[in-house]
Amino acid sequence: MQNSDILRKIPSVNDILETTEIKELISECPRSLVVNVTRRILGEIRQAALADKRSSNAGSTMADNTIPAISNRIVKSVKKSMNQTLEKAINATGVILHTSLGRAPIHELALKQIIDVSKGYSTLEVDKTTGKRSSRYNHIQTILCELTGAPAATLVNNNAAAVLLALNSITQGKEAIVSRSHLVEIGGSFRMPEVMEKSGTTLVEVGSTNRSYISDYKNAITDRTGLILIVHPSNFRITGFTHSPDLEEIANLGKEFNIPTLHDLGSGALINLKNICSGQFLNNLRGIPCGSETDTYNNNSPDDDYLSNIMSEPTVKESVAAGIDVTTFSADKLLGGPQGGLIIGRKDLIDSCKSNPLMRALRVDKTTIAALDATLRLYVDDKKALENVPILKMIFSPVTTVDERANRLKNNILNNTNGFYSATVEDGRSEIGGGSMPAETIPTKVVSVSSNHISANKLAKELRLNAIPIFARIERDMALLDPRTVIGTEEENEIVNAFKIIADKNTAN
Ligand SMILES: *Cc1c(COP(=O)(O)O)cnc(C)c1O
Repeated sequence: MQNSDILRKIPSVNDILETTEIKELISECPRSLVVNVTRRILGEIRQAALADKRSSNAGSTMADNTIPAISNRIVKSVKKSMNQTLEKAINATGVILHTSLGRAPIHELALKQIIDVSKGYSTLEVDKTTGKRSSRYNHIQTILCELTGAPAATLVNNNAAAVLLALNSITQGKEAIVSRSHLVEIGGSFRMPEVMEKSGTTLVEVGSTNRSYISDYKNAITDRTGLILIVHPSNFRITGFTHSPDLEEIANLGKEFNIPTLHDLGSGALINLKNICSGQFLNNLRGIPCGSETDTYNNNSPDDDYLSNIMSEPTVKESVAAGIDVTTFSADKLLGGPQGGLIIGRKDLIDSCKSNPLMRALRVDKTTIAALDATLRLYVDDKKALENVPILKMIFSPVTTVDERANRLKNNILNNTNGFYSATVEDGRSEIGGGSMPAETIPTKVVSVSSNHISANKLAKELRLNAIPIFARIERDMALLDPRTVIGTEEENEIVNAFKIIADKNTAN
């Protein structure tokens, strides 16, 4: 066949634009977009047809090139460019800091602050008293210093950036001493040794995977040493025969040899949960009446085991108080704010970070500052933080409350779906997630749903494809829904609605 014969079989742009399907599409979407997509797709078909002719199995792709098939491709492609793919989702997985689902949900006041400063203009880099230029970092510096006890503070796009900037600014091409047990990969290919290399720092490993002593650090110090680094082993735990020096021992060693110390804390709990998780406040939270036998935290409910683990999470304040020179942590892990990386500590070292040209490349947007500022203000009072910061509310939500919600959810699903599903409420574990406190799971109640009419995997897929995507856990061919991470009755109702739609759809055919 001649090239011209092959090409003649392919419909023209006008043929396509005249079909009812595409006319309908043009009534909903911009004509120029439809025409552009049509041209692109016809171009691709022409290319493929010519390539096909040159290969041995000529004609094999021609079957797809009927007008209805091409129109269909165009409709899909146009709709894909019209729809936003970043959408609201419902997290029923029970993983609280779920990185793929956007980590920490932020407080209403943080959202309001984003709108206030972003709808129009803001005082981002201006001092309204003098009218002179100021720095965007001033807005959060004072409150961060207040909350952490650090003399200086600044902010970049995420904690990975904070570590990179701190290493590059402080170590200045010299060596950094780090324990072998701290050479971790945080996930998303953030590997400590690789980040150190990119920052221009030479790594000096000390100790063994499970044990390192202060003498190991001390013996590694030479005149090339520019830093002692401590990394929180976020997403894994070495247990058993282990040792590592206290923060204070390392801080003191640094001072003795005049070498800066850097602590990558990762999660960064701002409040001391040890103080909070005792006495009446916690009991109120768990619905234990005042003055009852279990009036103190020292009750022996196994449900409270996880609390003692959370309590042992080192706080930012403790890192500063131990005398560590610079501490870095995420704004969207335990802190519960927007994505961000905080760098706090000694003023001269924070100043070196601020004057590093990399700082400009890692600069945060005004929306980050707005949301972080509002979130930090919730921490001015510990109890206010626990009652308001969404992720802390989830972590501390008592099992009894989750149980009530799970039962309501289960009943509403069963009552609205005509026997399509079976559902029960079972014991389960929620996870803190986000590379924070890996071993720490929280007792919870899950609704486990299965159906004779649809497999758990298909059910999970249909839930994801709901008008508001819903993410559940799949175990033992059942979909598990953990109400701990489902926000409010509105999301609960949407879940019930989705189960109803899926049941109706799969019963009809
Ligand atoms: C999570 C984590 C990081 C990376 O922080 P991001 O805010 O995700 O960039 C770095 N170090 C540690 C110890 C962490 O836990």
